[in-house]
Amino acid sequence: MKIRKGDTVELISGNDAGRRGQVIQLISQRQRVVVEGANVRKKHQKQQETGGQRPLSAGMIEFEAPVHLSNVMIVCAKCDASVRIGIKKDKAKTVRICKKCGESLD
Ligand SMILES: [Zn+2]
Repeated sequence: MKIRKGDTVELISGNDAGRRGQVIQLISQRQRVVVEGANVRKKHQKQQETGGQRPLSAGMIEFEAPVHLSNVMIVCAKCDASVRIGIKKDKAKTVRICKKCGESLD
């Protein structure tokens, strides 16, 4: 996975194309990420779903639906743009770099 939790990414397709946000969750098995404030869905919270217990907040709840990795690109703070990720091997570790300007993304 090139994208990590805490990265700032930009959505490149869908209704939220162009929106930026921080990765708040990684779902590696499904190749998806949850991006703060992006791909927000609303759903009704039904009382039956809680198994008889009363929900804390009834009504509409908003949540960020996971986005497929192919629909997001990492944002380079220096370029202020969504960029491709390059890999640079240092002595001990591998760092991700911006392919445009060469700046480290880690
Ligand atoms: Zn850059």
